[in-house]
Amino acid sequence: MNLSAIKEAILDILYPQNIACILCQKRASDIDDKGLCRACADTLPTIAPPVCQKCGRPVGEDGICIDCAYVRYHFEQAVSVLHYTPEIKRLIHRFKYDGISYLSRIMGWWMAQAFKQRCGWKVDIIMPVPLHPKRQRQRGFNQSALLARELGRYIGVSVNEGVLIRKKYTTAQAGLNKFQRMQNLQGAFEVREIEAVRGKTILLVDDVFTTGSTVDECSKVLMQARAQRVYVLTLAVGR
Ligand SMILES: [Zn+2]
Ligand SMILES: [Zn+2]
Repeated sequence: MNLSAIKEAILDILYPQNIACILCQKRASDIDDKGLCRACADTLPTIAPPVCQKCGRPVGEDGICIDCAYVRYHFEQAVSVLHYTPEIKRLIHRFKYDGISYLSRIMGWWMAQAFKQRCGWKVDIIMPVPLHPKRQRQRGFNQSALLARELGRYIGVSVNEGVLIRKKYTTAQAGLNKFQRMQNLQGAFEVREIEAVRGKTILLVDDVFTTGSTVDECSKVLMQARAQRVYVLTLAVGR
């Protein structure tokens, strides 16, 4: 446990989650058990159908969005829980850089609800999108792995964190277009234990779906390792 994690644990005890709203961070008396004030709970930017059958982005009517009409992904289908609004972006940022553990519990619960209500997938195992070991050391944790663990606990599916690995240290994807992202990710991932993947239906978990390049590259190596199929669940979807 590093120093910030200890500090976080102490703060968790001194100031329990239900004092300030996790989204607007205002203190209120009507905070629900998921850490939201009434106003934020009522306006949580949850994604509702109709969504694109491939990437999970909201669309006008059921079907495939324009972006997906000409692409062939290696995953079967992707679903996201929330729109990537400025509030959700801030929430994920706090989670990602401060590692606030109760946020992963709430976000994992949201993901579990979406999985149960919207996915209808039978999955054998959950795998988080891995971080490069160097980045994981800097950050102290992998945010996708924290989400995967909470989700796994809620839906009763085990999580495998060591099989899909990131072997290439890539620069940040932000600011790159779809083609540059794909180039940047070439050869970034590897399956270390083919036996753990072969014939399995895998649920890949990440925090944000932007162009889908990261989860698609992961799905590619999983399918090359003879996975049965790969589904993707992310907390938020943005452009
Ligand atoms: Zn609020
Ligand atoms: Zn789409």
